[in-house]
Parts: sequence; structure tokens; C-alpha cells
Amino acid sequence: MNKAVKFSEDIYPIDLTEAPKLTVFTQRQLAKIPQFMALPDEARKGVEVAALVFPFRVNEYVVNELIDWNDWENCAIFRLTFPQKAMLSEDDFKALEQAYDDGDKALMKEHIERIREGLNPHPAGQMELNVPTFNGEPVEGIQHKYRQTVLFFPTQGQTCHSYCTFCFRWAQFVGDKDLKFASKEVAQLVGYLSEHKEVTDILFTGGDPMVMKTKALKSYLEAMLEPELDHIKTIRIGTKALTFWPYRFVTDDDADELIELLQKCVDAGKHVAIMAHYNHWKELTTDISKVAIQRIRATGAEIRSQGPLLKGINDDPNVWAKMWQLQVSQGIIPYYMFVERDTGAHHYFEVKLEKAWNIYRDAQQQVSGVCRTARGPSMSASPGKVEVQGVTEINGEKVFALRFIQGRDADWIQRPFFAKYNPDATWLDHLEPALGEEKFFFED
Ligand SMILES: *Cc1c(COP(=O)(O)O)cnc(C)c1O
Repeated sequence: MNKAVKFSEDIYPIDLTEAPKLTVFTQRQLAKIPQFMALPDEARKGVEVAALVFPFRVNEYVVNELIDWNDWENCAIFRLTFPQKAMLSEDDFKALEQAYDDGDKALMKEHIERIREGLNPHPAGQMELNVPTFNGEPVEGIQHKYRQTVLFFPTQGQTCHSYCTFCFRWAQFVGDKDLKFASKEVAQLVGYLSEHKEVTDILFTGGDPMVMKTKALKSYLEAMLEPELDHIKTIRIGTKALTFWPYRFVTDDDADELIELLQKCVDAGKHVAIMAHYNHWKELTTDISKVAIQRIRATGAEIRSQGPLLKGINDDPNVWAKMWQLQVSQGIIPYYMFVERDTGAHHYFEVKLEKAWNIYRDAQQQVSGVCRTARGPSMSASPGKVEVQGVTEINGEKVFALRFIQGRDADWIQRPFFAKYNPDATWLDHLEPALGEEKFFFED
């Protein structure tokens, strides 16, 4: 058996006399978190009320190992996982707080629904635009927007170990069933893929597919090894488990079986890429996280990192530079820096495009070429992934230089285009064509 498969303290120098159990807290269990209960009353109240609107879920590992409770007001991981008062408008907060204090359940529900509806729960036309058909029927659980890559949302993988407060899939965690692109049908997935030879990549996403038991994940991954799917070269798995629950890869009951499964896919000739979400270098510093990374990499699977730029969490070039360096030193390949999407508490996290570009540039300048593989800052918008390449001047007109790094139409990819400089823009739809153009070329 490959050395990677069995967890052994001889190979991985970490003391785990007892495998930790996953203990999760949701909005109703806030009172069970001692560090949270020690916060000032007002801070606690803010979180309690905000967590009625936004999905909230943390576990003991995040609480005990990642959050700096001595400096909670400035702690990036606290803001990453605990909903904050300022994520709601003052009026909304007051109204909901009042109903909460009065114990008026019906009124609370009314406010919560109204507030959520105002938070653009369906960004970038996800629901309508990218759902493909197979045998004339829409195939649930599949999104196929870019030619080479199919996204698959396995039913059992539609939650996460912890919820990020910025998550653009927030709406599906608050019980809006319509928003789950779930599918039970491995057969449908295989059927669809076998008819689409142009697809080289399958990306399992969620939620977080790593919340699934290995047994469930196995049924999806092994199906990708069928001879009729020879054209599928890359299996990607999007996950935040390396941050929120690295024990998944080390000491969970089926952790060895999971490592074995990754190994099996690699041995079958697939490129296996764990698309790991990271927002801050702190997430990479615990012993257990380092061991989890080592175990994955020992199978021959690669880990690539991506995450959005967020005000108050990582809007600092030093944080990105240090994060990329720590990633590369552990063998992770930086992949994307995203612009926070126009959904949820967008106003709380948003960073102006010009500033985002400056942070990216400054961070890139601090690191060597091996860390500069992260593209960005990139907006995942309806026409495609649009990268801000910079602010420049053409014939005396100040402009944003942009390019598609992914496009709904493949012909758009790598085409540079220009938008009027707008110092306040935070998203593609705030931009207008520059240089006297009426429309952007992709709007026809
Ligand atoms: C980002 C994304 C992909 C993957 O794009 P790559 O550039 O290949 O990483 C695939 N589908 C959708 C809908 C995406 O947003």
C-alpha cells in the first residue's frame, strides 16, 4: 500500500492520540460557544440577529484553532465565519432586532424573507442560463457554461463544514430549495458527459463535496473512470475542508479511504485537482492542516487555491503575498483571486475594482514567479470571468483594461477590452465602454 494512504505518526509528525469529533454550532447553539459568550453584550447581539438572516455554522476546530478571540474585533477568521451586524442595513437590523426581542416569530420571518430577497440571491443568472439538457430534459445538478468544464453539484455535498459569511451560494444554505442544483443521478452525469467529448474537466462543487462520506464521493468519482469518459482528463473537487475541517483527510473514520480514492483516480491516469478555498494565510498554519495537505499531495493529486478579495478580511497585499508564499511552500498552486460577487452582504465586503487591482499588483510584486500563477482580480459575471488588468490611459482617456479569462462564448477568451475609468466601480455592471464605443463587444 502507498505510504500516503495509512495515517501514521511516524510519517506525519503530529500527536493525535484521539481523533477529534466534529462538533458543529449553528445560530441556535451560539450560547454553547464559551469564547462567544465572553464577548461584550452588544457584539453578541449583533451576531445573533445577523445570523438569523445569513447562514451560520462553525465547528470547534474553527473556534479553538483559527479564531483569535483575544483580538476578535480584528480577527479575519471571526469575520469570515460569524455574521456581523454591519452586514445588514441599520433599518433592517433595527426592525429585525425589535421582532427578535419581542419574540414575534411571524414578524421575524417576514423581515428575514424580505431582507434576503433584497440581497440578490441569484447572481449571474446561475439558475436559468447554465442548466444543460440531456434527452430533451433539463439535467439537474449540472452547470455547463464554459466549453471544457462541467460543474456538478452532488446532492449530498450541498452543505459545508462551516459557512463563509461572504459565500455567493449563501441562499441555498438558508433552505431555499429551488436554489439547490442537486442531482442523485450519477447516470445522468455520465450520460451527459459521454455525449460531450469537448469536456475535459469535471468540477465537483457544492456546498462542499468533502462533507460527503467517502462512500458517497466514491460513487461519483469512480464513475469518472469509466472507459466512455476517457476524454475527462481532470477531476476537480472544490472544497474549503482544508481550512474548516482538515481532519477530513487525516483522522475521520473514512479519511484513509478518501486518500485511497484520490490515489485510485490518479493511478487511473486522471489529473486530480483539489480546488481549495483560502481567504487568509492563518488557515494554513495549523499542524493538522499541514498534514492534510501532505497526505493529499502524496497521492499525486494537486491542490490549487482560490478565493475572493474581501474588505476587512484580506484587503491587504501583505496578506495575499504571505498566503501565496505559504501555499507554494506547502506545494499548493495559487490559481484565482476573485472579486467578491454581487450577492449577500456585498456592501460589507466589496472592494473597489481599482483598489482590488492595486492589491493584486502589490502582492504580486512581493513574491517570486512561482507564486504569480494566481490570476485576477477576476469577476465571475454572466458573460464570463473578467479580469481587471489595470488602469491606464489611451489617447488621454483614463480607462480600465480588462480581459476575459473565461467566456460564455469561447471566442471572447483573451480579448482585451476597455471600460471608462470609474473610481467607484465594484462590479462589471458598473462599467461603461470607453473610447466612444456604444456597447461592449460581448453585448451584441
Ligand atoms: C470558474 C468556472 C469554471 C472553471 O473555469 P476555469 O477557468 O477552467 O477554472 C467552470 N464553470 C463555471 C460556471 C465557472 O464559474
